[in-house]
Amino acid sequence: MRILVTGGAGFLGSHLCDRLLAEGHEVLCLDNFFTGRKSNIAGLLTHPRFEFFRHDVIDPFKFEVDQIYNLACPASPPHYQYNPIKTTKTSVMGAINCLGLAKRVKARVFQASTSEVYGDPAVHPQPESYWGNVNPIGRRSCYDEGKRCAETLFFDYHRENKVDIRVVRIFNTYGPRMHPNDGRVVSNFIVQALRGEDVTVYGDGSQTRSFCYVDDLIEGFVRLMEQTETVGPINIGNPGEFTMLQLAELVLRKVGGKSKIIHRELPADDPKQRRPDISLAKKYLRWEPKVPLEEGIERTIAYFREAIKNS
Ligand code: NAD
Ligand code: UDP
Repeated sequence: MRILVTGGAGFLGSHLCDRLLAEGHEVLCLDNFFTGRKSNIAGLLTHPRFEFFRHDVIDPFKFEVDQIYNLACPASPPHYQYNPIKTTKTSVMGAINCLGLAKRVKARVFQASTSEVYGDPAVHPQPESYWGNVNPIGRRSCYDEGKRCAETLFFDYHRENKVDIRVVRIFNTYGPRMHPNDGRVVSNFIVQALRGEDVTVYGDGSQTRSFCYVDDLIEGFVRLMEQTETVGPINIGNPGEFTMLQLAELVLRKVGGKSKIIHRELPADDPKQRRPDISLAKKYLRWEPKVPLEEGIERTIAYFREAIKNS
């Protein structure tokens, strides 16, 4: 198949491009390099079935494709809050452009949604049937509400225009190729520890997250796209739940060195807990994560050790 991946030069997008090429597909990667990097796709640029297009998803685009994966959007809070109006435009207009293209060329289209649609959840763990608890006017709203509106658009195009959609709600994912200055917790802790700097836990560190290793996530993406039993939304994430203090201690133990834990102010609207209910992924995709946190953190530390040495 010929497959378009928007946001294909980013952390998840570049792993997805690798996977789709390995399966024999032709891959068109569209990215404006806002948070993505050439180095993520450097190895692919000479691949005969890979093409890169520097383009912004908020501007319309035309390709003859069989499938579209829409991943274009900054994902880390410092990056999506840098230009919040642009973040909303990217989510909403990017979704409209992907859906319009899918409608015209009759492509199956996949939306990378997020556990952020659940906001600071009052239901725990979060099943797909939960409508969420999102602040519509806060610092995280540009991302949360942008992604919620994108889901609305996907389901309206599906109902009104019979567009063949798939919607995944991604829970915190980590692994090689995260940007070292991305600002997300796993990359921050590892990079700080490797540099011998103190590890910054926001608030008292009792807030929880569930961390999925990137290879597990990409397997879930492809399974969702390939099956026809459900269009989603479907949670993909690792149900193992850890406090940020536990994560900091794990990273310090694995890296070694002299770094200490220090506390910084908790960002506004920071969700207190998050854990996916993955019953639907098990039922429809026969998917569950395989890589435990310790192992995934070891692989990610090995990646950053090399990346820092070569930078
Ligand atoms: P990332 O920031 O590494 O990748 C996003 C990519 O989109 C980058 O390459 C960036 O340059 C590109 N991009 C941003 N705005 C664009 C625009 N206007 N036009 C074209 N390209 C644009 O982040 P990621 O972790 O790889 O996230 C990929 C997708 O998955 C995002 O949609 C994100 O919301 C979603 N997601 C990720 C996680 C996670 O834990 N990694 C969790 C939930 C949802
Ligand atoms: N966090 C932290 N130290 C950091 C970066 C993040 O303690 O250096 C916390 C943050 O406050 C949040 C959790 O880690 O509670 C996950 O943050 P991240 O930005 O990775 O993702 P999100 O909040 O979107 O889940």
